Amino acid sequence: MRTLRFKLYEHKRNKHLKRMINASGMISNHCIALHRRYYKMWGKHLNCAKLQSHIAKLRKRNRFWQLVGSQAVQDICQRIEKAYQLFFKHSKKGVKPPGFKKVKKYKSFTLKQAGYKFLSGNRVKVGNRVYQFWKSREIEGTVKTLTVKRTPLGELFMVVVVDDVPEPEIKFTTGRIAGFDFGLKTFLTCSDGSSIESPQFLKQSLNTIKKASKQHSKKLKGSSNRERARKNLVRKHEDICNARRDWFWKLAHDLTNKFDVLCFETLNLKGMQRLWGRKISDLAFGEFLQILEWIAKKKGKQVIFIDQWYPSSKTCSNCGHVLEKLDLSIREWRCPSCESVNGRDENAAKNICAVGASTVGLGDVRRAVPAIAV
Ligand SMILES: [Zn+2]
Repeated sequence: MRTLRFKLYEHKRNKHLKRMINASGMISNHCIALHRRYYKMWGKHLNCAKLQSHIAKLRKRNRFWQLVGSQAVQDICQRIEKAYQLFFKHSKKGVKPPGFKKVKKYKSFTLKQAGYKFLSGNRVKVGNRVYQFWKSREIEGTVKTLTVKRTPLGELFMVVVVDDVPEPEIKFTTGRIAGFDFGLKTFLTCSDGSSIESPQFLKQSLNTIKKASKQHSKKLKGSSNRERARKNLVRKHEDICNARRDWFWKLAHDLTNKFDVLCFETLNLKGMQRLWGRKISDLAFGEFLQILEWIAKKKGKQVIFIDQWYPSSKTCSNCGHVLEKLDLSIREWRCPSCESVNGRDENAAKNICAVGASTVGLGDVRRAVPAIAV
């Protein structure tokens, strides 16, 4: 399964989609009210099938509700059912039953097999209207669901979940393989000795966010000034995300043009976070790897992950000697066995490359990507 996200063009027509989202919110609230009433009357849980057939009946008499396709209505009922099941299972851990949501804050509706159709170019038909979206990439594979989402700024996005496409054969165009080591200051160190610095503009933009967030919390609750400050804050967040994603895409293209096989260490994000603090989440290695894998797949290149417990820093890339211990603060060390001087990151990258190279063609390549949404 792969999740693709597209922005819809601004258009007057979009109000119909927003109305559909609002109607979904109303239906959702109504379902929850029914659940509560049913429980009060009968002292037991209203099951999903019953709820669905009841809502379907109500929908027949309600023009506004008919804005939402029957598929999406079913999805709402199922989601609420899921939320209740979670609550039954984990109420002791503090999980709350689903609650009412302000319709204005309701975010999305989801369509499964029916209710939409992709037309040629960048057009999609939802209900009986055609909308256009920024087609940032091809939609390959079978579409499983389509979700229309409203952001806090009121913009609309389309989230498409597709089945995985079969992997294309690896094309060896450059004949080059490389290993990479992630770092904080230096984003990537390559086994060929080159390195890619972390973009400073991202760090600077963090200050802008801090400022915007301060402005927001200072404003009077419920005032239009506060609403303006909130929008400003959300916009700043999105700017940073977009800038970062742009940079990731560009970098991924550069690297896949330069190399056929790219080797990385499996990330232990939790451990890294503990060691390095919040900065790591700003760099979002996981997000980068997802983008890189996607592009590599398209170009027929290969991304390989090697076991994170392999001592890539402690092993001398020249002779294979393994140190007992190597403190994090040591950036360079001399091998006691062959006397060569190893730069910490470059040495690690070389080792990662060597291990990756030995696994190519053996078939059983260990792969693992941290689960981080793009
Ligand atoms: Zn050595």
